[in-house]
Amino acid sequence: MRIGLSGGIGSGKSTVSLLLVELGAALIDTDAIARAIAQPGGIAMPAIAEAFGTAAIGPDGGMDRARMREIVFGDRDAKARLEGILHPLIGAECERLAAEAHASGRPIVFDVPLLVESRRWRAIVDRVLIVDAEPDTQVSRVMSRSGWKEADVRAVIAQQAGRKLRRAAADAVIFNEGLSLAELSSEVQALWTEWMGAARDNR
Ligand code: ATP
Repeated sequence: MRIGLSGGIGSGKSTVSLLLVELGAALIDTDAIARAIAQPGGIAMPAIAEAFGTAAIGPDGGMDRARMREIVFGDRDAKARLEGILHPLIGAECERLAAEAHASGRPIVFDVPLLVESRRWRAIVDRVLIVDAEPDTQVSRVMSRSGWKEADVRAVIAQQAGRKLRRAAADAVIFNEGLSLAELSSEVQALWTEWMGAARDNR
């Protein structure tokens, strides 16, 4: 089974993904892949250098993420060019990792922040699991975790898919609001048991 896990910034995706790994899932984290391929020596670096020149490259030879955010902010063509480089490479790496996980027989969880925004991703996964939270909670979690400013978190929330759209794309929603970590863990476990049972019955 291929589970697509998504949710807004600070909703609790990473926390849920680790709980799923404890239950036996293989995790494929698309953000981690995106970071790795644009690090010094990463497979995306030659194409990034060719498309954006030295302006987008830091002194260590990796993508200068802050500079790249400025370059693509409000510039659709630049954003499309960057995505045209990154997305196929991320997709190929996901498929490679998925083949490895498949060989081990484990269910696969793809952590994809922009899953709902992407038709391609929705076609790849069997189930969509959304972690949902109130915007005020997202803001306070991200501020206390990463020290971001409130306005910056709210700007990211505004750019992401709305909660309604996300919930509409979901096969299951975990409402991670007012839950202790133990309660969150029980919810994840209950869903896992249900989905794995359904997968066994379908075999
Ligand atoms: P991002 O989109 O920024 O990667 P995320 O959706 O992966 O965020 P997490 O990193 O899982 O979110 O959670 C954000 C913070 O909130 C973390 O510090 C996490 O420990 C905390 N958190 C998540 N869920 C709960 C909860 N139910 N109770 C208390 N803290 C929580």
